[in-house]
Amino acid sequence: MKVFVVNCGSSSIKYQLFDMNDESVVGKGIAEKIGLPMGIVSLKIEGTGEKVERELPLPNHEAALNTVLELLTDKNIIRDKSEIGVIGHRLVHAGECYHSSVAITEDVIEKMTECNDLAPLHNPHNITGVRTAQKLFPKAFQGGCFDTAFHQTMPDYAYLYPIDYSWYEKYKVRRYGFHGTSHGYVAQLAADHLKKPLDKLRVITAHLGNGSSIAAIQNGKSVDTSMGLTPLEGLMMGTRCGDIDPALVFFAARKGVSLDDFDKMLNKKSGLMGVGGISNDMRDNWKAIHEGNKRAGLAIKMFTYRLKKYIGAYAAAMGGVDAIVFTGGIGENDWEARQMACEGLEYMGVEFDVPLNKTVRATLKEVSKPSSKVKVIVVPTNEELVIARESYRLYNESKKK
Ligand code: AMP
Repeated sequence: MKVFVVNCGSSSIKYQLFDMNDESVVGKGIAEKIGLPMGIVSLKIEGTGEKVERELPLPNHEAALNTVLELLTDKNIIRDKSEIGVIGHRLVHAGECYHSSVAITEDVIEKMTECNDLAPLHNPHNITGVRTAQKLFPKAFQGGCFDTAFHQTMPDYAYLYPIDYSWYEKYKVRRYGFHGTSHGYVAQLAADHLKKPLDKLRVITAHLGNGSSIAAIQNGKSVDTSMGLTPLEGLMMGTRCGDIDPALVFFAARKGVSLDDFDKMLNKKSGLMGVGGISNDMRDNWKAIHEGNKRAGLAIKMFTYRLKKYIGAYAAAMGGVDAIVFTGGIGENDWEARQMACEGLEYMGVEFDVPLNKTVRATLKEVSKPSSKVKVIVVPTNEELVIARESYRLYNESKKK
């Protein structure tokens, strides 16, 4: 059985095709520039490593997915689309409706539509993805994982904002959290690595990528996480500011900055990019530092300092911590960022293995000393695999009914 995992944005579709016999990825790629005069579709064939690209106009998501299917058939990865029995969607916002992955029904789509206000940049495109897949694969099972679902276990005192309660009642304004699929996956792998049940552990998972968030996972349940109503809250990120004084909104308004410009500043021109002025990418910032750029150094110092503050806060929230997990592009690859974030945490039982940590990249590995009370573990994330597994599991369950 082949499971096709799709992540639909406004002008792009990322995809991975899994063969569930051995959970291998047989092909993956991206369709980009949908709706622009010229689009591009790429496919990387796993195994051979061959990369194919096709340039053509992609007027809409349907044209993009059709081109992906053409590439997959041309390259003999599938004979035809009927081989794909399950589509797994990456979905962003389910509000308070879903606590786990879902079989997509009209009711689910309706609930997602109700959440469009909460995730205007993501949910409408996720829905387009579902509708397009339903059209192109009328017989396939459609499943999906919401980014918010894993964090639905947060207690009210963690998910509420200390503002007029009627805003929660009227508009559902509260903290939701994101990257849930990744936090749940890496926490479980860390528990497996430690040979302890996750429901007996206190784990802090730091998903550090272009978007970054951190979660406190106690006895297998998310009890707090840094992103909130939107993915702007919390840690400093590539281009997003994370936590700031909300009064900055009034300050900006009184300076005559438009709402759109202010939104753009906080989402696209802040974080590493905003402070360092070089790039949203850690690698570019390190390069700049080595060339003597002080502001890039400040940006990384702020990134890791803010991360460390959250680690301390979540250890306090859980009454201690058994493992700290690093994942995402930065968490998996950037040994210097991991070292900076863990510096000075000896007081809480972290004995960081500095030389070993320098050697670890994109692989599951403990980077604390064997004697460390708190284990520090690098765990590569794989959200697509979770979506494939969950959608396949739901498909099999639906067959039994
Ligand atoms: P993600 O969103 O999880 O794919 O992470 C992307 C980000 O990871 C990039 O913007 C970089 O900041 C960071 N990254 C990726 N590879 C490396 C690396 N080798 N060293 C340091 N940072 C990296």
